[in-house]
Amino acid sequence: MAKLKLALYWSASCGGCEVAVLDTNEKILDIANIADIVLWPIALDFKYHHVEAMNDKSIDVCLFNGAVRNSEQEKIAKLLRAKSKVMVAFGACACFGGIPALGNFTDRTEIFERAYIEAPSNDNSDKTLPLTLTQVAEGELELPEFFDTVLTLAQVVDVEYFLPGCPPPVDLILKVVDAMATGQLPPVGSVIASDKTLCDECDRIKEEKSISKIYRPHQIIPDDKKCFLEQGIICCGPATRGGCGLRCIKANMPCRGCFGPPAGIVDQGAKLVSAIASIYNADSEEEISRMVEEIVDPAGTFYRFGLADSLLKRKRLTP
Ligand code: SF4
Ligand code: SF4
Ligand code: SF4
Repeated sequence: MAKLKLALYWSASCGGCEVAVLDTNEKILDIANIADIVLWPIALDFKYHHVEAMNDKSIDVCLFNGAVRNSEQEKIAKLLRAKSKVMVAFGACACFGGIPALGNFTDRTEIFERAYIEAPSNDNSDKTLPLTLTQVAEGELELPEFFDTVLTLAQVVDVEYFLPGCPPPVDLILKVVDAMATGQLPPVGSVIASDKTLCDECDRIKEEKSISKIYRPHQIIPDDKKCFLEQGIICCGPATRGGCGLRCIKANMPCRGCFGPPAGIVDQGAKLVSAIASIYNADSEEEISRMVEEIVDPAGTFYRFGLADSLLKRKRLTP
């Protein structure tokens, strides 16, 4: 049987998704047995022009991790889409925007000012900012355009499959590889995970208790048998898709929501707000306000991984 052609690409990514591929350990040899890698910038010295020279749809599967935050990433996403039969949004950033999309609570101007002028480690008295075009003695230097808004992969190109997680767990990566090898791919549009919520898979004791105080994880030692939420620690389980193997819960840490919303939920953050509000034990507006105040960084808590894919999408841009 002819080997599959596989491309791996990282866009606005921390690199963790790439490491997750290596975490398959000796199973990476199975991947090598069934597939020839035709692009993997972190590991192999392929150039973009090598991909441009390929025939359209000549790559069988492209595992694309990271969100889309600049014009180079958008261009390569479109190029890989043209060359690939199957695009997989690999990891929370490609699926939902992930951590990079928290930048949608601000804009390019504010990010550049913070990164290049205000940050204490800067030595930039001229207040030089990156430009897309810079004239130097040798000619013109070009940088990609940094977008105001971080996008999910599916907001840029059509995507066949979504493999969530920050990063995706090894067993689900191998499930995708196995489906590639056998040609038994699930229906287009599938999320390679459970359709249920993480709470459905969690066996911690739930006592239908209400809460009157919110704690951050470092403020109390949680009982490792009981539901985090019922101990007053925000856990994104009610608004998060299952399938991760309860990675954080088993380490006695609450879920942060990296598998995105479960089937049928449009906005993960709104669902989580509703779940938490339903167990608040507060009789007055003052008590509710006090408990809301106890949630440090509510926007980041409720939309840590999913802002780009949410109903909010971003802060309103000033015209
Ligand atoms: S999903 Fe997580 S591990 Fe993967 S690139 Fe994004 S932040 Fe990194
Ligand atoms: S909220 Fe968290 S700890 Fe509680 S049942 Fe759901 S996943 Fe488990
Ligand atoms: S418990 Fe939540 S944050 Fe942790 S891996 Fe699972 S889905 Fe992601």
